[in-house]
Amino acid sequence: MATVIETIQAPQVQHTECFIGGKWLPAASGKTFATINPATEETIAEVAEGDQADIDLAVDAARKAFDQGPWGRMDARDRGRLMYRLADLIEEEIDELAALESFDNGKPVSVARAADLPLVIDCLRYYAGFADKIHGSTIPVRGNYFTYTRKEPVGVAGQIIPWNFPMLMTAWKWGPALAAGCTIVMKPAEQTPLTCLRMAQLAQDAGIPDGVINVVPGYGPTAGGALVKHPGVDKIAFTGEDRTAKIIMRNAADSLKRLTFELGGKSPNVILADADLDAAAAGAHFGLFFNQGQCCCAGSRVFVDERVHDEFVDKLKDLATNRKLGNPLCQDTEQGPQIDQAQFDKILSYIDKGNAEGARCVVGGKRFGDKGYFIEQTIFDGVTDDMAIAQDEIFGPVMSVLKYKDWDELIDRANQTFYGLAAAVWTSNVGKAHDFARRVRAGTIWVNCYDVFDAAAPFGGFKMSGQGRELGEEGLRAYSETKTVTINLS
Ligand code: ADP
Repeated sequence: MATVIETIQAPQVQHTECFIGGKWLPAASGKTFATINPATEETIAEVAEGDQADIDLAVDAARKAFDQGPWGRMDARDRGRLMYRLADLIEEEIDELAALESFDNGKPVSVARAADLPLVIDCLRYYAGFADKIHGSTIPVRGNYFTYTRKEPVGVAGQIIPWNFPMLMTAWKWGPALAAGCTIVMKPAEQTPLTCLRMAQLAQDAGIPDGVINVVPGYGPTAGGALVKHPGVDKIAFTGEDRTAKIIMRNAADSLKRLTFELGGKSPNVILADADLDAAAAGAHFGLFFNQGQCCCAGSRVFVDERVHDEFVDKLKDLATNRKLGNPLCQDTEQGPQIDQAQFDKILSYIDKGNAEGARCVVGGKRFGDKGYFIEQTIFDGVTDDMAIAQDEIFGPVMSVLKYKDWDELIDRANQTFYGLAAAVWTSNVGKAHDFARRVRAGTIWVNCYDVFDAAAPFGGFKMSGQGRELGEEGLRAYSETKTVTINLS
């Protein structure tokens, strides 16, 4: 382990300050915080610790760019052109950005290069194409009036993102906001500020005017809290924990901000006896262990028809045993470390709970190595619905396997969660697949696949998994206001 870690080459860190009004500025307080490499537990860089004063400056810059700057007056097609340019610049730097993402987040560089970055680029291009296709309609009203609607940008968007997909979450937020004509103040997660800061510089290089995108790194309750409460911010888009969303909702109440949330999940992944079991096992493995299990839509409850249960668990065990865990900067690594000490401790405590509650750990179950936040790929069998590992979002490489017998009972059990982000079913019975898609209360249903994302396909949660949708045409709604214009023709 130790020798592998020594091979890591540090990618270049170019930006560690706040990006406000097109300038790189230290935090007004002069404070900084360390961003850590989760594979080595070593500090990568000290980053400006923004708080209220920096948020004030950033909101002023975003307000000015929106109210007076060129952005609001620019032809939509030209806005789109600048977004395409940003996507091109990211593509030109794809290898460096993948390395930086891997270094700051711990995800395997090969995964960042093959999954995160292409999705980032695609998302920006998808929304660039939308910039000049956002329009209202004419409405036939009673009387001699001409009524039409305009779709106008909502204004200054405050955007707060987590650490699990730092660049992708940035693209999901920036894409629709820029296409709609909004300006942005973003607070990246304190664990992973580096790639978002690099993207801000690339946005400036692409020609996106100063003040349109501002990035203030810092902590949630301080920098994030100031952004949520600021009267100059029109809308907050947040991705993170439901616990944090409740705080944000309370803090945004005084200014009645528009809010969209993309929160957690405890997604069911259901294996029918008639499924292609090899494909289903690969899908269940990927659906949970992808990104170290740090996905809001992770398929963490794997329900298996009791008739194929033993055979299926053997397949899961083989796949998990052969998963390559280690240095994320090695090209063949499939699983890196967890993000930080807090997550590492939380995941290990859930593994303890699983054992204590009587689930059977069939693979993994402990720390890997003695340096870095690595946890073995872990599978619990014999899990029942009431166990903590079947109820709580663990956000780590811990799979719970549950048996089922009856279809209707299975649907009830799949729905027995406060969450409703995603669900999947593996079957060769098209009727069962549609029945599942209709009856399971979740924002995304995958049939014979998992974690298939596309910039055009809306994503978001039922119940406590969120409010509103990101991606697709629906993703633009959060950044647009409808204005109705009525003209007296008599
Ligand atoms: P996670 O457990 O994934 O870190 P959080 O919801 O705690 O999820 O964090 C997601 C984002 O929300 C981070 O950028 C974090 O700094 C920010 N955040 C945390 N607390 C607050 C808060 N009180 N107000 C605004 N943003 C916050």
